[in-house]
Amino acid sequence: MLKGIGASGGYGIGDAVIIEDANLDYSGVRYLGAESEKARLQNAVDEFIKETEKMIESLKVGTGEKESEILEGHLTMLNDPFMLSQMNDLIDTGSVAEAAADTVCRMFIDMFSGVDDEMMRQRASDVKDIKDSLLELLLGVKKTDISAVKKGSILIAKDFTPSMTSQINKENVSAIITEVGGVTSHSAILARAMGLPAALSVKGATESIKNGDKLIVDGFRGEVIVNPEREAISEYEKKQEAYIKEKESLNVYFNKPTVTKSGEKKYVYGNIGKASDAESVLQNGGEGIGLFRTEFLFMDRTTAPTEQEQFEAYSTVAKIMGEKEVIIRTLDIGGDKAIDYLSIEKEENPFLGHRAIRYCLDNKPLFKTQLRALLRAAAFGNIKIMLPLVTEVEEIRAAKEIIAECEAELKAEGLQYKSVPVGIMVETPSAAIISDILAKEAAFFSIGTNDLTGYTMAVDRGNAKVAHLYDAFKPSVLRAIEMTIRNAKAAGIPVGMCGEAAANPRLIPMLVEWGLDEFSVTPSAILQTRKTICEL
Ligand code: PEP
Ligand code: MG
Repeated sequence: MLKGIGASGGYGIGDAVIIEDANLDYSGVRYLGAESEKARLQNAVDEFIKETEKMIESLKVGTGEKESEILEGHLTMLNDPFMLSQMNDLIDTGSVAEAAADTVCRMFIDMFSGVDDEMMRQRASDVKDIKDSLLELLLGVKKTDISAVKKGSILIAKDFTPSMTSQINKENVSAIITEVGGVTSHSAILARAMGLPAALSVKGATESIKNGDKLIVDGFRGEVIVNPEREAISEYEKKQEAYIKEKESLNVYFNKPTVTKSGEKKYVYGNIGKASDAESVLQNGGEGIGLFRTEFLFMDRTTAPTEQEQFEAYSTVAKIMGEKEVIIRTLDIGGDKAIDYLSIEKEENPFLGHRAIRYCLDNKPLFKTQLRALLRAAAFGNIKIMLPLVTEVEEIRAAKEIIAECEAELKAEGLQYKSVPVGIMVETPSAAIISDILAKEAAFFSIGTNDLTGYTMAVDRGNAKVAHLYDAFKPSVLRAIEMTIRNAKAAGIPVGMCGEAAANPRLIPMLVEWGLDEFSVTPSAILQTRKTICEL
């Protein structure tokens, strides 16, 4: 049996599909002489062109006109004799084909991403695609198409990036296993949102499991049984059945208000990553949306979503939720949430770097596009804006100024919009410590325990070696939470929690005691959270 961290409850029984981490390390490749290296490069280029032409054809038959245009752009670039001759020149000076392709592509990526023009930056991400494909062909590594796996698959990868997770079709996937990542990594959050059992940080999983192995995944205990005996399979089938029954027993809480035994009214909301998830919040009995992670709208694409696209996403959620509150967080990128086309500079310490509200305040056009879309969508429901990673009061003031500027523009343009409350995430020790001051500027607080725990304990939320320190129950984290709630109450503003700890049945009694108003959890945990609160 393999053991990791149970990161998303439930049991999965199925067949292993290993998602190769495209290891593009070519440091062990030996130089075979200029002629051979050039021939290898030319073969890879020819193969790339052949594959790309095939994809363009099939996209044209289907509906992917835009994608086929992008791929045609790739062909034009690679057919440019200058690019190839530069690679061949490097080979003449002793580079292996992989290094030649990598170096020349990187040169183009740097050149394009340094230009302050959307189209050019788009080119940079095109060249990155070309680079990765060429390296895969040269090294003979092939990526698995996650969206095409067959029913009953259990996916195993070193880690799932958000873009990999977003390709998962939950009808066909029974569970996921990773070698790294903890309970609050984004793979864990997305697995819970999809209701998929997940065992994370399972050491050596990609080595000890082979494609096609029969697997049992226990998403509570983080255990994986490889090629189990028949008895184990029937034991887990029984457990699976009991688990489904237990979930059904929560249904009595579906239409119940969230009220403690002593009569205190609380709210259980859902966290979402895309507009259509709003349906699952309602299907799970959610009373609102406490966190819409808008960064997912910006992923898996080559350019930022336009104001109209964002407006459609936000207004869709607002309409689905009707009068219910919808808290939408402005773009929270950086750290583990990279977006290639935004050309975020590589930083020594991305988690302490130019991310979230810091990045948005410095990239005003991008920020304004999102804010205008939010204000316009607000006319269709009960939207509130939430700023991520706030550390000082000036950030709220600066954001509010930009919001006022957007409102003035919308008014002048005669477009329909609505002013909305602007609140903040309390997810840095700084914000918690000055929460009395921030409460004067923020319309509400939502405590982000995922980051608050990491920053307070000075621990990387995805590093298994220090996972014992990554715990919202540490006294310093509890003190930060309590202080934030107390300061919100004193200022008379609502305070919620949208970090994973909001669904922790051991923490909920303390949160209720301290006066937390709203608990925003992954949709599949809404009813259990309500049950825990109602039983207090
Ligand atoms: C948090 O930090 O607690 C949070 C909810 O935000 P995210 O997990 O998206 O960083
Ligand atoms: Mg956070």
